[in-house]
Amino acid sequence: MSPRLSESDLRKLRRELHRRPEPSGAEKATAARIAQILTVLGVDEIRTGLGGHGVAAVLEGGAGDGPTILLRADLDALPIPDRTGKDWSSTVPGTGHMCGHDGHMTILTGVIDRLLGELDGLAGRIVALYQPAEEIAHGARAVLDDPAFRELEPDYVCALHNLPGFPTGAVILREGTFASASRGLILRLHGETSHAAHPEDARTPAPALAALIDGLTALPQLVTPLEQAALVTVIHAELGEIAFGTTPGEAVVMATLRAHRDAEMERLGEAALRLAEGTARTWNLDWEHEWVEVFPACPNQAELVHCLAEVADVLELPVIRPAVPFPWSEDFGAFLQRYPGVLFGLGAGEEHPQLHSSRYDFPDELIEPGIELFSGLVRRLLGVD
Ligand SMILES: [Zn+2]
Ligand SMILES: [Zn+2]
Repeated sequence: MSPRLSESDLRKLRRELHRRPEPSGAEKATAARIAQILTVLGVDEIRTGLGGHGVAAVLEGGAGDGPTILLRADLDALPIPDRTGKDWSSTVPGTGHMCGHDGHMTILTGVIDRLLGELDGLAGRIVALYQPAEEIAHGARAVLDDPAFRELEPDYVCALHNLPGFPTGAVILREGTFASASRGLILRLHGETSHAAHPEDARTPAPALAALIDGLTALPQLVTPLEQAALVTVIHAELGEIAFGTTPGEAVVMATLRAHRDAEMERLGEAALRLAEGTARTWNLDWEHEWVEVFPACPNQAELVHCLAEVADVLELPVIRPAVPFPWSEDFGAFLQRYPGVLFGLGAGEEHPQLHSSRYDFPDELIEPGIELFSGLVRRLLGVD
């Protein structure tokens, strides 16, 4: 069976997905459309409803037993208006595929189409997963926790993300950590209001809030070894109400913590809570905390990185190896914590608008190299010739 989707079919599909974006956790129509395409392509086994709206195509090789390799794309769009001005702009106000997940889904669909014709020469199983809710660090874990996923348990996992700022079609590879761990911290401080003329009768969180903004920002250099990087970015703070007659009694501060490794993230998180505890005690405040959007780091297995470099070489795609991990996060880390695997980048153009910019649009030139990189890796891991 030869591929049924031409290059122009794939571009059409990418633009169709771009036109109808759905936010994280609400990818219902996107998932239904993907399942429909997989049926038309002739995929025998399609799982839906994985960890929410996740969809998986299961392809069995015809050449006997072998490992299971999971390839992942992401289904969700972002709460960002589409200002690309393209004919295929988002038709949903305030929502857009501004991270290129429309392109990632198209690539995975192209891979399935191509591999369906090669199953006789493959020993093992391919699980092509369209994962929901990547942007909110929820979907990967939800899929992993879904009992239905247990039957699809992989031996290897692989995902790609397009990366503006790198030459179009360049393959960005890194052994060890590829993308950093990150998590959001919400600290709420509870005191007691008073008349503004009598702050001595209040328990104001004002000095604690100021100390926490400074203290959190300074934490990385105090708890992280020199050879490891960490970062705390205070992203929001609020104190009392706008009422000139009132000493405030409530405050909240929010920060994003980042680290190259999960071990450093643990240390940083514990130090942040100790700082909050001490500061609250100093100013006689009650306090509570909440962790949100917890992304583990993405550690890449050296052997698979090596394999992909060889595939890139055959395809004559340039390989770029960044000296340090990327500071952003990917919830594919939840898979990489559990299974050996690789997350790699595909250059989207040095001058291309950045991910999450309202002018960003997935470059269609990446569809073909993306398909060939994934397919090449599968052939290397499952091929019998
Ligand atoms: Zn994104
Ligand atoms: Zn993304």
